[in-house]
Amino acid sequence: MTKTDPATRLQFTQHSGEYDGVNPAITDSSTFRFDSASLMTDCFEGKLEGAFLYGRHWNPTNFELSKALAAIENSEAAWVTGSGMAAITTTILQLCSAGDHLITSVTTYGGTFAFFKNVLPRFKVEVTFVDITNLEQVKAAVKPNTRVIYTETLTNPLLKVSDLPGLATIAHSQGIKLVVDNTFTPMVVTPIDHGADIVVHSLTKFINGKSDGIGGAICGSWEFINSLSNLNDGMAMLLGPVLEPLRASSIHKNLFTLHLRMQQHSKNAQFIAEKLAAAKLRVTYPGLPTDSQHDMMKKLMNPAYGFGGILSIDTGTKKLANDLMVAMQNREVGFIAVSLGYFKTLFSNSGTSTSSEVPTDLQHSMGLSPGLVRIAIGIDQDIENTWGLIHAALKEVNLI
Ligand code: PLP
Repeated sequence: MTKTDPATRLQFTQHSGEYDGVNPAITDSSTFRFDSASLMTDCFEGKLEGAFLYGRHWNPTNFELSKALAAIENSEAAWVTGSGMAAITTTILQLCSAGDHLITSVTTYGGTFAFFKNVLPRFKVEVTFVDITNLEQVKAAVKPNTRVIYTETLTNPLLKVSDLPGLATIAHSQGIKLVVDNTFTPMVVTPIDHGADIVVHSLTKFINGKSDGIGGAICGSWEFINSLSNLNDGMAMLLGPVLEPLRASSIHKNLFTLHLRMQQHSKNAQFIAEKLAAAKLRVTYPGLPTDSQHDMMKKLMNPAYGFGGILSIDTGTKKLANDLMVAMQNREVGFIAVSLGYFKTLFSNSGTSTSSEVPTDLQHSMGLSPGLVRIAIGIDQDIENTWGLIHAALKEVNLI
């Protein structure tokens, strides 16, 4: 491992806390004291470096988590939010005003799609949905008022890999910001190394890894992060999507096992994907050499962490998808549940759950089958045994 490895960068952010605790102390204060009234004035005027003012603006516990996330994502700075959606909406509202234009991948998390389709037009921000893997289409969508190109490194749920260097070239030649949601691939891909300007995360998923809390993060330059917390027009300051410091502290400690968890998620997903492919099922996983996204993923990935923990099976119909999920749950493969990055395997039928915001005709035209089962593979020690359980479930529903 070199110093540029995300886990190694993270390792050097951990310093002992107050009273020499090995973890940073939790700062359970929403407001902070000043030695004099004039220092408080200086702080409000932005003349006081490093002072904490009020918990909606910054909190020392959130600052520690932010530094650790910035290390993972190789950004100058970060700001943590109460959810992944808060990170996305805060970032976009900071970057776009009425009259601006945004280009987005048509395949994104359903909540993101709904925000772009249903909410941004209410604020007169025009949105163009494109096939993000088609750079000619992206280029053709650019207008003089385009402010943002938005994508997910590995898109939810179709597992398309964004050509980040190609998108960055288009964006930067026109003064556009490239914003990338890296929720599916922390450690696996470092989008800033490939030209992204801002990286957003749902911490709720792999990064926390426990499915016990909701959180988000925005990673970018100090200039951008400071603009978010500007007292007069910063969207983080004015919309108030701050993460609760108690939760920030619990998420922070989970970051230090992320590299091991990602390696195990990827190893297990690769094993199951190969078995499914050998059984002639319609499986999508970028780690399969036959997968259309394999070469792009190889170009972008930090190889120590594999191809990620998510795969999908197209069963053909909603009924078969539902039957398969029940059969897998009955055999304790995992749970029928949305979300991902949990230590146990989670599965859902994307079209009727996390992409249900996308109209059915659009689901069809983008290639989202009603029978798609997204499987977020857990960190099971004995993955051969898990495969035995999945195999039995597939047999029960006559898919093999
Ligand atoms: N981004 C992606 C890729 C997601 O899958 C999700 C949720 O599933 C989100 C963002 C939203 O995150 P949160 O639920 O933490 O708001």
